Amino acid sequence: MTGKMNKILVSECLYGGRIVRYDGGMKEETHPEFLKWKGEGRLVPICPEVFGGLPTPRPDAQRSGDRIVNRAGQDVTEEFTKGAEEALRLAREEDVAFCIMKQSSPSCGSREIYDGTFTDTVISGQGLAVEMLRDAGFKVFAEEDMEEAIDWLAQIEGD
Ligand code: SF4
Repeated sequence: MTGKMNKILVSECLYGGRIVRYDGGMKEETHPEFLKWKGEGRLVPICPEVFGGLPTPRPDAQRSGDRIVNRAGQDVTEEFTKGAEEALRLAREEDVAFCIMKQSSPSCGSREIYDGTFTDTVISGQGLAVEMLRDAGFKVFAEEDMEEAIDWLAQIEGD
């Protein structure tokens, strides 16, 4: 590696260490390269929903058009928007090279999300934080795309 160490924004539930998921569970990523990056201090964790002011655990929420509504029927668009803006602010502040975000989440999903009907139906789409990050020009991978993320970093660093 030459030059500066490129940082990577990651979903905090993948990073681990703090319980942030709606169900109080964990989804720590165990790919050896992810753990190596973590040890190098490259990873910048953020949970948009917690930064948006939502508690853990919390009712699960889904995108429904331009709104985000939780299972209890409450509109949580404002909290999700605040959290997405915080993710973008942090990505810029830390000058991250790219992002690795948890698939299917209404905040962090990058290829698919639930359809807003709470019937376990997945559709093509992206979470609100990922949408804002991409609109601002950040590249986003899902945790299931680790090999692509590894290749991308190698390209950036000229390995
Ligand atoms: Fe993980 Fe993102 Fe959901 Fe937070 S909002 S628990 S970081 S998937």
